[in-house]
Amino acid sequence: MAGKFSDEELLKQNLVLSDALDQPNIIHHVPEGVALLSIINVYRHKAYPKTKVRCAHCGRTNHRDGFTALLASMNRVLLGSTCGAEAYGASWNEAMAIMEGKRDRQYELKMLGRAEQVLRPFIRAVNSWAWKIDKFDARRRTFETSYGAVHAKLFGAMRVSDGVLSIDVRVRDYAAETMKPNDGEKWKMETRPMGRLAGGGFLEPDAFTPTIDAALKAAEKYRAIIGKSEGIPTDRMARLRRDFERKAEALRHVYEVYDGRDDFFSPRNLDLVIAWLNEVGHRNAFTREGNTLVGMRIRFGMEDMADLNPEPLDLLEEFKRGS
Ligand SMILES: [Zn+2]
Repeated sequence: MAGKFSDEELLKQNLVLSDALDQPNIIHHVPEGVALLSIINVYRHKAYPKTKVRCAHCGRTNHRDGFTALLASMNRVLLGSTCGAEAYGASWNEAMAIMEGKRDRQYELKMLGRAEQVLRPFIRAVNSWAWKIDKFDARRRTFETSYGAVHAKLFGAMRVSDGVLSIDVRVRDYAAETMKPNDGEKWKMETRPMGRLAGGGFLEPDAFTPTIDAALKAAEKYRAIIGKSEGIPTDRMARLRRDFERKAEALRHVYEVYDGRDDFFSPRNLDLVIAWLNEVGHRNAFTREGNTLVGMRIRFGMEDMADLNPEPLDLLEEFKRGS
């Protein structure tokens, strides 16, 4: 019975009504001995509670949400889900399962229709990211391999203290001295923050290129079924859609980190990094020239790196708004 409609026909069916009463051949009781053919729509009665829908089984008018059943007599009856099961037993549950299957499939077909608008420009825009992210990955890798110990310390601060760079200083412990005034001077170690690192995503050890590749691949795989849905099971369509959504969503992090590159390489931030490194045992590892970090072996800057086009993320939002 599920295969009764083509995808094209299914797309046109109105499976969710906002006015339950706006349909032909409604009768308001369940007739004896007339079989249930199918459940043809779900209603979410919009005018509730101004106008109420009377359940054909129990006669109560407290339903806002319910189902339209088509009977062998071609009449339609409106029922709540519990009452439908009471009136029709197993055939109701069977009809419900078919209805749910149709709704799921219609949803996927609608999303695939949106994908047709979105995927081509999405793929084009993500491709425009690829070489920039490649270059960004290479620069981050160079920093990590050239300055492993420095990188580890900075990245450690990112993870442990959310980017707050602090140093341990030795200070007089006046409280202890007051308690034991005859013992002389007492000292203790105190952690003192110097500032918060900006744009610290630059230090993330993982490459971003695989995230780009995965998003492109998922988009291409999803695009491949556009116009070819007939015969493809609904759950496979849903899997391809969710895979696209998830992998496209992962681009947001890449975008944010890339977007934060100028924060990391701002003079204020570089000065903080250099000052902190001087305090924690990497004295004179770096100096700064404008927005460039200058080390013994290599210079790091981002001024040659053009912005990313935010279009892939906008297109993803547009696509998901339909759900
Ligand atoms: Zn009822």
